[in-house]
Amino acid sequence: MAAGWRSAELLDIPVRPVKGQILRLRGDVSSLLTRTVRGLSHGVSVYLVPRASGELVVGATVEERGADTTVTAGAVRELLSAALDLVPGASELELHEASAGVAARDTRQCAAAGRAPGEADVWVATGHYRNGILSRP
Ligand SMILES: Cc1cc2nc3c(=O)[nH]c(=O)nc-3n(C[C@H](O)[C@H](O)[C@H](O)COP(=O)(O)OP(=O)(O)OC[C@H]3O[C@@H](n4cnc5c(N)ncnc54)[C@H](O)[C@@H]3O)c2cc1C
Repeated sequence: MAAGWRSAELLDIPVRPVKGQILRLRGDVSSLLTRTVRGLSHGVSVYLVPRASGELVVGATVEERGADTTVTAGAVRELLSAALDLVPGASELELHEASAGVAARDTRQCAAAGRAPGEADVWVATGHYRNGILSRP
């Protein structure tokens, strides 16, 4: 069972949806950044990830808005403002994409991975929250 936040609809596990918005900028990224930068600007935490493809990923908001995937003007402004404070040269990049996703957060603050409670033949992997890709191995 690896249905993300929807796993909670199928099994009795305390996983809930948490909204996140993220931006992708495009252009001569390698002349600005060659490694990931994380920082704070006016209390907003942001990370910038240069990709070999020429994209700069700017993330991410954390919003307790359930499974909503609306891209909002406020989040785009917040992320851009913080990103440009950290790397002013990014203002010349193209704003290629703004998107919203939903991460699964386990209320026990750890991933739900292992045999499903009360289900002898069901294994579950969800609740990885913001580290689902990082924790995959
Ligand atoms: C904005 C944002 C930024 C993030 N950044 C990072 C990052 O930098 N690094 C990192 O490690 N993680 C990051 N994450 C977290 C990461 O995306 C998730 O932890 C990861 O996607 C979880 O993978 P998953 O396969 O468990 O669930 P999901 O990716 O949610 O996949 C679940 C799948 O199950 C399907 N499904 C649901 N219900 C059913 C059903 N009933 N039947 C069949 N299929 C079903 C869904 O359609 C979906 O395809 C980010 C998340 C967000 C929202």
